[in-house]
Amino acid sequence: MSSNHPSENELQQYAIGELFTNEDVAAHLHSCAGCHARVTNYRLLAQQLNAMQSPAFDFNLAQLVLEQLPAPKAQFSWITVFGVVLTLAFLAAVPLVFGGYIVKLFKNLPALFATVLTVSTVAIFIGQLNTIIKEHYHEIKKLDFN
Ligand SMILES: [Zn+2]
Repeated sequence: MSSNHPSENELQQYAIGELFTNEDVAAHLHSCAGCHARVTNYRLLAQQLNAMQSPAFDFNLAQLVLEQLPAPKAQFSWITVFGVVLTLAFLAAVPLVFGGYIVKLFKNLPALFATVLTVSTVAIFIGQLNTIIKEHYHEIKKLDFN
């Protein structure tokens, strides 16, 4: 009997054929009756589990869960409107207050640098937007139970 027995987890994975480094385990099983018996038992257990019928419910579980979820709030939110108006007012105030400085800032820029700055800004914006949209659809797909 070897003193270096595989772990129970390795024996279980070997028994169901999911252990990739099974050379060592296979060699050990030839010399160790105890581990060989364990693998045989695990194989029998796996066969019994696979032979069992999966439980079938006579009710729609997804429907019962969905009925328990709180209804989505479709209320008009004044706080959201206030936030949007405040943000738009701030964005409109920036060119009014700092317009002269912004024009001066970009007036003396070389055309190539301004072009590279604009193109890279737009590219980053499009990339970020694309990521947000992909994540949104990914999350929505998780909610689709059908
Ligand atoms: Zn062993």
